[in-house]
Amino acid sequence: MITGHKVEMCPFCRATQAYLHIRKGSAVQVRCGRCGAEGPEAKSESEAVEKWNKNDGMRGSKDGNRKDDE
Ligand SMILES: [Zn+2]
Repeated sequence: MITGHKVEMCPFCRATQAYLHIRKGSAVQVRCGRCGAEGPEAKSESEAVEKWNKNDGMRGSKDGNRKDDE
């Protein structure tokens, strides 16, 4: 659970469903529960949240669904 760290909304889909995901090897990253965007890996929860909030090294869900001509 997220305690003490405020995770901002997803910069890609604006959902407020981002959550902390603990990866193997104790790396932590924030993920969006809606569009699947992933924040950069960090060594601590606070660092992961901070990077997410600053939009530092973000990458969206790479499904190749980048089409502006809908
Ligand atoms: Zn999202």
